[in-house]
Amino acid sequence: MKKNRVLLYTVLSLFALLIAYILINTFKLSSKQLSVAKVDKIEISDMAIDRFSQAIQIQTVSPEDISNFDSLQFVRFNQYLKNSYPLADSLLDHLVFNKFSHLYRWKGTQSQEKPIILMGHLDVVPVIEGNLKYWKQPPFGGQIIRDTLWGRGSIDDKIGVVGVLEAIELLLAQNYQPNRDVYLAIGHDEEIGGNLGARAMANYLIEKGVQAEFIMDEGGSITQGMIPGMDQDVALVGVAEKGSVSIELTVELEGGHSSMPGKETAIDVLSKAISALKSNPFKAQISKPIEGFIEYLGPEMPFFNKMAFANSGLFEPMILKSYEASSSGNALIRTTTAPTIFNSGVKDNIIPLSARATVNFRIISGSSIQEVIDHVKNVIDDERISVKESGFNTEPSKVSSTEAFGFEAIHKSIAEIYPGTIVSPYLVVGATDARHFNEISENIYRFLPVRITKSNIKSFHGINERISTDEFENAVRFYIQLIKNSDQ
Ligand SMILES: [Zn+2]
Repeated sequence: MKKNRVLLYTVLSLFALLIAYILINTFKLSSKQLSVAKVDKIEISDMAIDRFSQAIQIQTVSPEDISNFDSLQFVRFNQYLKNSYPLADSLLDHLVFNKFSHLYRWKGTQSQEKPIILMGHLDVVPVIEGNLKYWKQPPFGGQIIRDTLWGRGSIDDKIGVVGVLEAIELLLAQNYQPNRDVYLAIGHDEEIGGNLGARAMANYLIEKGVQAEFIMDEGGSITQGMIPGMDQDVALVGVAEKGSVSIELTVELEGGHSSMPGKETAIDVLSKAISALKSNPFKAQISKPIEGFIEYLGPEMPFFNKMAFANSGLFEPMILKSYEASSSGNALIRTTTAPTIFNSGVKDNIIPLSARATVNFRIISGSSIQEVIDHVKNVIDDERISVKESGFNTEPSKVSSTEAFGFEAIHKSIAEIYPGTIVSPYLVVGATDARHFNEISENIYRFLPVRITKSNIKSFHGINERISTDEFENAVRFYIQLIKNSDQ
């Protein structure tokens, strides 16, 4: 009896200790948000909005099939840059790569300091012919209707390109000169890999030995109502991007007539392999960028979410489970598996000799292409299937620090222009041109100053891409602050 009581007390006091530990961690979790002084609202002219509209009207489409590349539109964009930004055109060094990508260099008063590089891309994805009827305004009309600008590229990524140029032009008009050199790198083929644009510009900078203090490209954005447990807007600044590898699986077996099928056909073998890959997903994990996400958002959350985030070690299984529930959350916590092509057979009564499939994996920070290949071979475990890399593959980027000057400059600029917005590091699940610049800086961030909501998230690369003129104005203001805040 006495022994039981001792045991009970021990368990109870251990439990009390655990609760105390959890609570202490929860209360210790302090806000990472910067408090900033209010900045004056800079007037953005209607002419700027008009220039933005003109940029949308130039159909700089990166087509799937390169033979459909319409160089005339890109020539027009070159002309547009020259005509619309005369100060930048005459006062900044300007190099053109592969005819249509632009690298500007704004010389600072202290050129020996490490420069900053702002990146964007002027190409857009095509508008699918069959979807034209769903567009409420013509995709390349650049119409402004009730303070909303419509068109392909208004979010991805012409707001980034035009936004920075407007900021630079405005500062040049005020005779402003930055301390550090400011580079602006505008690629023209981001949507199809960036080899002629970003890659060429990166090679040039590497050859010149340029090491940047920080680099900022598109990637994260300001989300509204997208993060469970957060009522405030959250600005997600990508500190890393996932890698990508496509793996082609091929099997060749004896074919024959469908009236006498063998035990296993090529289709059988390959479907089994795909099914095995889907039912053996990569391990869920809290990678470095998501750790940062937890650190920055935890303190801003309601008590129970905060408690889980403050004790992420203890609550990890619960946190991972909740992320797994949605496809967007799932993409943040593991290398994802997506079969994208499956080919076999030509006729209804012939058993095909071969079957071929492609599976695309998006690789989490800290893992590698090799780990994916090993996993695939392990799971499939069938010598009849050949496994090889195909397509355009890239390793996950390194993870940039949230302690670095660049992150702070971005954080501060967001706080100044979007008061009340919570800033957090993030993992970008798609690929950006920034990956070509990996060697040029330790601190690469991915952020575009636009608001993403549940209703507009499908519009870029989709239909009815549009943005409010207010948001465009704020984007210009954000870039002005960022350039100023990078002076140190
Ligand atoms: Zn983009």
